[in-house]
Amino acid sequence: MSKTTEIFGINVFNDATMRERLPKDTYKILNATIKKGKDLDLAVANVVANVMKDWAIDHGATHYTHWFQPMTDITAEKHDSFISPKDDSGIIMEFSGKELIKGEPDASSFPSGGLRATFEARGYTAWDPTSPAFIKDNTLCIPTAFCSYSGEVLDKKTPLLRSTEAIGEQAVRMLRLFGKRISRVVTTVGPEQEYFLVDKELYEKRKDLVVTGRTLFGAAPPKGQELEDHYFGAIKPRVSEYMRDLDEELWKLGVLAKTEHNEAAPAQHELAPIYSNTNIATDHNQLTMEMMKKIALQHGLVCILHEKPFNGVNGSGKHNNWSISTDKGENLLDPGSSPYDNLQFLTFLMAVIKAVDEHQDLLRISVASAGNDHRLGANEAPPAIVSIFLGDELESVLDAIESGKSFSGVASSEMKTGVHVLPDFKKDKTDRNRTSPFAFTGNKFEFRMLGSASSIAETNIIINTIVAEALCEFADELEGSENFEDDCRALIKKTLSKHKKIIFNGNNYAAEWVEEAEKRGLLNLRTTADAVPLFKSEKNIELFEKFNIFKRSEVCSRCEIMLENYVKTLRIEALTMLEMAMQEILPAGTNYVKELSEGATLKAAFVDDISDSAEVNLIKELSKINDSLYAAISDLKKLIGALDKAEDAQTQAEYCRDSLLPAMEALRYYADKLEASIAKKFLPYPTYGELLFSV
Ligand code: ADP
Ligand code: MG
Repeated sequence: MSKTTEIFGINVFNDATMRERLPKDTYKILNATIKKGKDLDLAVANVVANVMKDWAIDHGATHYTHWFQPMTDITAEKHDSFISPKDDSGIIMEFSGKELIKGEPDASSFPSGGLRATFEARGYTAWDPTSPAFIKDNTLCIPTAFCSYSGEVLDKKTPLLRSTEAIGEQAVRMLRLFGKRISRVVTTVGPEQEYFLVDKELYEKRKDLVVTGRTLFGAAPPKGQELEDHYFGAIKPRVSEYMRDLDEELWKLGVLAKTEHNEAAPAQHELAPIYSNTNIATDHNQLTMEMMKKIALQHGLVCILHEKPFNGVNGSGKHNNWSISTDKGENLLDPGSSPYDNLQFLTFLMAVIKAVDEHQDLLRISVASAGNDHRLGANEAPPAIVSIFLGDELESVLDAIESGKSFSGVASSEMKTGVHVLPDFKKDKTDRNRTSPFAFTGNKFEFRMLGSASSIAETNIIINTIVAEALCEFADELEGSENFEDDCRALIKKTLSKHKKIIFNGNNYAAEWVEEAEKRGLLNLRTTADAVPLFKSEKNIELFEKFNIFKRSEVCSRCEIMLENYVKTLRIEALTMLEMAMQEILPAGTNYVKELSEGATLKAAFVDDISDSAEVNLIKELSKINDSLYAAISDLKKLIGALDKAEDAQTQAEYCRDSLLPAMEALRYYADKLEASIAKKFLPYPTYGELLFSV
């Protein structure tokens, strides 16, 4: 056995470990819960808890925690040790089924969006046996769902699991119409994760990076990403060592870390795992982000997950590759060799097209954040307009369906390299379109609007739910049909005519697309403040209630939390800018002016009639910039003060969008101008050039 196969999953209470350690009957019952969604009782949980504890102790654990995903983008944990007093003097290590199944963290300090007053602090965590427990830092981590005392959902896992059940049920219904008896359908996800690595010492000198995760100031460096020499470039030794350690830690946690490469921007990289079911993929993505940060520190590096850490340089996203599969392993988005004749594939494809068109708003909202607003539409990420790319082959299939013409197929051609020693091979039937926000990539859809710092839960809650709705409508219409095949083809044709406006195979980054999309009536929700209020439209509340994803109160609370996050993030950024400008940038400018003035005076005293136009002009220029900088500081200060006067979160968010952000940009403009005109020794912080080429 190689080292890698030996360490893989070593810290996970996975299926192999359960099979080995649990009594046969217990394993069988637990397995039925995991694979078939059956209920689990306390007696079984007691046995599992005890075995799990022994396994954890064997692997060095002393504590356990219910690991959950509150409405922040990170995970939460509260550690308890296994110790329990025994007799008068000693202890034993104990862990009961009750402790495994239910936890009771004080919930008052987690975001609830007004769902729970702080005096009603009780919250519950409930074991999710479908995602395996694991050991991290000598602590047994038990994946759990999190809800309030009154039963309202306060986390991201519960709705994700609900949405998986919803789409599963509807897909099973649909497959029955195709004559297939399938007991379970799940969705699968492979999230590609982008990130930046910078030197830790330099990072610590940047208050903006430390406090907000992104640079709030910084003049453009002489060399950025224009030479395009970083993408897929040779990985530098320090980064390579980091990636190796990261892989190892992730493998131990059972994360299928697979592909790594340099990304487009300098200091930017990507990691993609092999896909898994959506629940596990979400937990693993959270763990991946945590490990990325932790391992970086061990290498004297800092991993930046912010969506737009550097102006003028590509930001980081997360590509959410998504598909639907039966428990027999059939990928329902696999077109097979003849998509035109594959009615089942076309039905599922059409359900996705309909869902995306009808719920553009929800997909946009699922990626909305202050950070991601800087990225969407900035010539590097898809715009805030949602559209679907299908590729040449599927386009011609759908054209044929719509026009009622026969389809002769798109032959795959040979790729001739023109060199004898190189092999010829079959080309793919369609090229890629990297600019599309929702691209069909052979046997799955790739949603590319997600920001790198977000949990992938929201996006997948939305995709699962909206496709569940489309499948449900299809099944309602087709169940009881006397001539299923004809009716199904007619339904596909009808749906296509209605929703084809969402299909766009061209360049999504082009300015013309914005105009064209508007003509087509597609939504363009530029900022979080524009997008989030639509979350609680009646149409959306109805959808969520129909599939038991969120209650009305939960929808409203989530809306509130998203807006609050947006406002809080911008307030923190604005305050950090003020502090840096007052404490570091303005003094740098005045100190340089002082040095120039003193130098010029000394020079004049020493030599009569000596020329001093360089100093004089520079002093004038710098003084002007300093004046503008100071004015911008005063403006921003006033605007922050007025923020609290806005009554509700929506008004505050709009105020941030319309007043605060432009004032922050103005302040940055002068600070960056100053940075570009100042002597190196007066620079208040490491420059972009230093940060981006430091590793
Ligand atoms: P890209 O060309 O977009 O960079 P990568 O190979 O880096 O592609 O990533 C593709 C991702 O899609 C991987 O995480 C892969 O496991 C995932 N993927 C492949 N098939 C499926 C599927 N059926 N469902 C979900 N994700 C999938
Ligand atoms: Mg990709």
